[in-house]
Amino acid sequence: LQDKLNKAIKTLKGQGRITEINVAATIKEVRRALTDADVNYKVAKDITDRIRDKALDRKVLISVEPGQLFVKIVQEELTELMGGEAQGINIKGDPAVILIAGLQGSGKTTFSGKLSAYLKKQGRNVLLVAADIYRPAAIDQLKVLGEQVGVDVYSEPENKDAVAIAKNAIDQARKTGKKIVIVDTAGRLAVDEAMMQEIEAVKRAISPTETLFVVDSMTGQDAVNTAKTFNERLNFDGVVLTKLDGDARGGAALSIKTVVNKPIKFISTGEKMEALDVFYPDRMASRILGMGDVISLVERAQQAFDEDEAKRINAKMRKNQFDFDDFLSQLQQIKKMGNVKDLLGMIPGMGKMIKDLDIDNDSFKPIEAIISSMTPKERQRPDIIDGSRKKRIASGSGTNIQQVNNLLKQFDEMRKMMKKMNTMQASGKLNKMMR
Ligand code: GDP
Ligand code: MG
Repeated sequence: LQDKLNKAIKTLKGQGRITEINVAATIKEVRRALTDADVNYKVAKDITDRIRDKALDRKVLISVEPGQLFVKIVQEELTELMGGEAQGINIKGDPAVILIAGLQGSGKTTFSGKLSAYLKKQGRNVLLVAADIYRPAAIDQLKVLGEQVGVDVYSEPENKDAVAIAKNAIDQARKTGKKIVIVDTAGRLAVDEAMMQEIEAVKRAISPTETLFVVDSMTGQDAVNTAKTFNERLNFDGVVLTKLDGDARGGAALSIKTVVNKPIKFISTGEKMEALDVFYPDRMASRILGMGDVISLVERAQQAFDEDEAKRINAKMRKNQFDFDDFLSQLQQIKKMGNVKDLLGMIPGMGKMIKDLDIDNDSFKPIEAIISSMTPKERQRPDIIDGSRKKRIASGSGTNIQQVNNLLKQFDEMRKMMKKMNTMQASGKLNKMMR
């Protein structure tokens, strides 16, 4: 996904200006990337249609950094779709009853343990209930977890009636002053009628304050179908996405939220009892985008980058007048954004490449020194820098002739590139006439 989106974004970033055709092409790439991340096709289409409208609305086309603004719009849209704000669970009631449902292996028992630890840490008095009557090992599993996190576990190993166990557990909780009861139930490998009837019966009998549907995020599109079926039967209150510590594609989160319209409340990111997080839509949006810190890079860049200066330099580039003063100004802009290596590291795919590279903000120092040692005229017209001027600049900046030569050569190549791009852009007849 990351590669695909990067490709899409690159299409936009490559140009100072983009055309409507670029947006259309990028939208198509983003849509493909979303479906590849297990986002349902129809959902992906709705999302990208909205993103396109927003992009055109917010004048991405004429912004200074079209690619970055575009990324930001995608991020905002995904966040919005996943519910905007993080949502907690309802623990009102005496006791509050939380029913945990889902397929076998989805992570219900693990999550029950985690949730009890999480609530205990908030000072709540919790009781865990083992209502999985089909696997004797399931009771032991919950007992081990309960012991680990210091929460009592209620079980009736001989009783084969899940409804009765759950009811008895709640009575027990009232007697012993427990304020929250978490009922861990049995699952099957696939949705079947007997399981649905059982869990429905349990729900009816104990009328839980909160019913949470647990789903393995690795199951992709299937996760959406399972969620739909469970929701039709149980009308659950929230979703728990598990196994997000692997390379699961977060697309399931987006589809489930859109298809069943129930909030995702927690995510589970490991087998350890601490690996539980409240679900934050904005973070999941970043995960789906596969861009990690890019979003914060965009924000930092927007703060630090002086738009007027950028426009001024852009105009000079277009007139082939880019000089050493402009170059210096750009270097300083980059430095203002923070540590160069960190900045580069935030770009997807860049981290590995620059890990062993020796660059930091000091790497710019000789370049800045050389430019500072040039006269204003030399900065504007580097072509007048002959042998004796080079010598003077080198000794003035504490560098050597070779370093000066290198910089001049790089700068010359840069200008040639700009000129070439300008000629390409200006190949239209109208543009020629206006020159
Ligand atoms: P249940 O059948 O729904 O109760 O599922 P379990 O809680 O027994 O979990 C099934 C397996 O998935 C166990 O081996 C758990 O350790 C593992 N598991 C559960 N949640 C996570 C998670 O968030 N990350 C990872 N890596 N493994 C998990
Ligand atoms: Mg279990």
